[in-house]
Amino acid sequence: MTTQVPNKETTTGKSAAPLLKIEDVTVSFDGFKAINGLNFAMGGQELRVIIGPNGAGKTTFLDVITGKVQPTEGRALFKGKDIRSMPEHAIARLGIGRKFQTPRVYLNLTPRENLELSCVRTKTVWNALFSPTPKAEARTVGGLIETIGLSAKADIPAALLSHGEKQWLEIGMLVAQSPDLLLVDEPVAGLTDEETERTGELLLSLAESHGVIVIEHDMEFVRQIAQEQVTVLHEGSVLCEGSMDDIQSDPRVIKVYLGDPDAM
Ligand code: ADP
Ligand code: MG
Repeated sequence: MTTQVPNKETTTGKSAAPLLKIEDVTVSFDGFKAINGLNFAMGGQELRVIIGPNGAGKTTFLDVITGKVQPTEGRALFKGKDIRSMPEHAIARLGIGRKFQTPRVYLNLTPRENLELSCVRTKTVWNALFSPTPKAEARTVGGLIETIGLSAKADIPAALLSHGEKQWLEIGMLVAQSPDLLLVDEPVAGLTDEETERTGELLLSLAESHGVIVIEHDMEFVRQIAQEQVTVLHEGSVLCEGSMDDIQSDPRVIKVYLGDPDAM
C-alpha cells in the first residue's frame, strides 16, 4: 500500500499549475536592487496579501508583473507563459488587470455607463458583430453593479459617489475586462472604516473566481482579508510567507517593522 502525502493542491482542490510564478527576479536601477532574487508563486483562486515596510519593493514587484519594469535578471511566468519581454498592453490582454490608487473613472458618466464602456473595450470586432445580444451585455453589467454594491447608485453621475464607491466602481471596471489576475495597490487608503470592511468583502468575493494580489499597509485590513498565505517583502526579497499569526509573531518581521510602529 502506498501512502499519499497530501500536497497543497489536493488538500485545497486548487489546480496544480501556478497562475503567476516569479523566478529569481532582480530589478536594478543604476546598480541599486529594488528587487533582489525574488521568488514567488500563487494560484488562480487565491487572495494573496503582500506587506512590507516602505521601500521593500512592493510597487516595483507589481511593475514587473504588469511589464512596466523589465527584470534585469530572472523571469516572470503568467499562466505558464514567459511575460518578461512582453509590452504592457499585451500582458494586460493576457489577463492581468491593475488597480491604481487613484480611481480612474469617468466622473460625468454613471457607474452603469462606466462599466458598459469597460465591457465594450474588451470586445473584439468579431464578437461585437456576431455574438452577444444587448441583453447578455446588460446582464454582465447588472451583475457587476450588484457585485460592487452600487445598485442604488447605478444611474447617477459617478462624480456623486464617495471615494470608496469610486474605488469599487474601478474594481468593477477591471473585472469587466475578465482578467485572471487582479493587482490592487493599497485599496483602502483614505476610506472610512465601513468602506474598508466592504472593500475587503468585495476582494474576498472576487478571489473566488480570480487570483488577487493586494499590496497593503493597513494591518487591520490585512487581518480582515488575509487567507492562508501572507507574503512579507523586505529589501526586494521575500522575507517570509505564512499565516497572519505566523507572520505577526515572526521575529524577523517584527524587526523590519520596528522603525514603522504604526504599521503593525
Ligand atoms: P515600496 O512600494 O515597497 O515602498 P518601491 O517598489 O516603490 O517600494 O521601491 C523599492 C526601492 O526601489 C526604493 O528604495 C525606491 O526608492 C527604489 N526605486 C523604485 N523605483 C525606482 C526607480 N525608477 N529608480 C530608482 N530607484 C527606484
Ligand atoms: Mg509602493
